[in-house]
Amino acid sequence: SAKRLRRNHSLRFRPALDKQDNPQLTLVSDLRAALISGDQLELHFQTQHHPGTGELLGMEALLRWRHPQDGMISPADFIPLAERHGLMSELGSWVIEKACAQQAHWQHSSMPKLTIWINISALQLFQGDLETQLNTCLKRYQLKPSQIGLELTESVLIDERAGDMGPRLRALKEQGYSIAIDDFGTGYSSLGYLKRLPVDKIKLDRAFIRELPDSQADAAIVKAVLEMAQGMGLCVVAEGVETQEQCLFLVEAGCTIVQGFYFARPLPAIELEQRWAPLPMAAGAL
Ligand code: C2E
Ligand code: MG
Ligand code: MG
Ligand code: MG
Repeated sequence: SAKRLRRNHSLRFRPALDKQDNPQLTLVSDLRAALISGDQLELHFQTQHHPGTGELLGMEALLRWRHPQDGMISPADFIPLAERHGLMSELGSWVIEKACAQQAHWQHSSMPKLTIWINISALQLFQGDLETQLNTCLKRYQLKPSQIGLELTESVLIDERAGDMGPRLRALKEQGYSIAIDDFGTGYSSLGYLKRLPVDKIKLDRAFIRELPDSQADAAIVKAVLEMAQGMGLCVVAEGVETQEQCLFLVEAGCTIVQGFYFARPLPAIELEQRWAPLPMAAGAL
């Protein structure tokens, strides 16, 4: 029978899939364990600023995995793995839950009140019911949709598995969530989707920022995107801003939000609190 064939098949191939032989599979089972235990995963937060005044304008939640043996593993490495091995929806739920919990905590603290932007993977948008999941979480933590922003990479919007993302995004938009296009300029050659989809914000990929202000081509691209966005009523966030020269160029070009190591690296919540909501000195310490 088909069943027995499958069983034989899996038996036959088991040695090749043995953990020791396949570091990728070891990592997948480690990630599964990390999701169950929960204590190896963390959200870090990177602030967004006005490039001229430094004013705090928002923050992005970035997932971190502290592997017990291998140390910090980059999300750029384990997120694709999670997607391939069916762990993304669980991982995505973990991020939504944690980001909402943190936002709720900060709403009742002296932290500045900012939107927290979370990264949403393609699979979270195609499969599962993202809208219900977000709404449930918001309700649990008594948050408003305006307090959570969703970052989608450009490639999500044209993924052939997705069909038309328009209705799903419009539903989220109608609920009050803000939507940003991440890594703008790297994934897609047509701008048509900007007209069709309910986007609020463009995050200009750091590939265009890196060689500012020297690269004439990048300078021209950045200026053109800023002008287009202004004409469409969209905000632009410049990603990966590392130097004062880049900041000066961006101010001059009319960019009003930047994110990058020049202002802050992604940090654990506690370090952000120390920076932005320092506790009054205890009486005993005086
Ligand atoms: P992203 O959403 O474009 O996030 C920005 C990345 O640029 C982060 O890398 C951040 O640490 C890094 N970065 C910020 N400022 C600078 C800078 O000035 N210079 C340089 N060289 N890099 C800078 P990170 O945290 O390693 O994340 C990589 C990617 O992994 C993210 O890119 C995002 O696509 C994905 N990711 C991270 N967290 C999540 C998550 O919770 N869910 C999903 N689906 N994806 C996530
Ligand atoms: Mg992002
Ligand atoms: Mg980005
Ligand atoms: Mg990026």
